[in-house]
Amino acid sequence: MSMADVFVFAGPPGSGKGTQAKLLAPKLKVPHISLGDLLREAVRSGSKVGEIAKNYLDAGKLVPDNVAIDVAEEAVKKEECRNGFVIDGFPRTLEQAGLFDRSLGKLKFNLKKVLYIDIPLEEILKRLTGRRSCRKCGAIYHLTYNPPKKDGICDVCGGELYQRHDDTDEVIKVRYEVYKKQTSPLIDYYTKAGKLVYINGAKDVSEVFKEVSKAVAS
Ligand SMILES: [Zn+2]
Repeated sequence: MSMADVFVFAGPPGSGKGTQAKLLAPKLKVPHISLGDLLREAVRSGSKVGEIAKNYLDAGKLVPDNVAIDVAEEAVKKEECRNGFVIDGFPRTLEQAGLFDRSLGKLKFNLKKVLYIDIPLEEILKRLTGRRSCRKCGAIYHLTYNPPKKDGICDVCGGELYQRHDDTDEVIKVRYEVYKKQTSPLIDYYTKAGKLVYINGAKDVSEVFKEVSKAVAS
């Protein structure tokens, strides 16, 4: 019986792990699952899980392990994941990793590698605090890397640009510290299991993806 491979992307918020996961999934012809997207979707839908998650997300904190594992397990059980999948934003704690291992075993998946996108806080602050979104159409700009033609105005629709609440320095710092503290046992766990690969995330998206592709192929 052949096992379907699973690749996990880890790394602090703003490291670009979601972008890398999104690039890798089509290359491997498997779906990309983002726990953050799933949780935000749940919040928007106003479901029970969403209401619980909202309080944590608003405070820049991790959602409880049982909420995260329920949401993740429901997603990977779907038919589209049967040949494997790429997941980012999960697992985030040692407890989640243990539960996830059990789920994967039960569902006949093989956790192939955990790609840790490593990046210093200063670099994340530079990237995220410059980000601006359009209130009307959701287009995303960056004051340094992708500025709008007119200050504060969306090129696409003329809407007002604003800084997302969770893109402010204070919230980013809290998220980074929470992440580092909660994931260090997780990193040890995957290192001991021989699954962890460090990727330098402080480079261009395409440069980082080259490193990711190399790690996946080895
Ligand atoms: Zn717009």
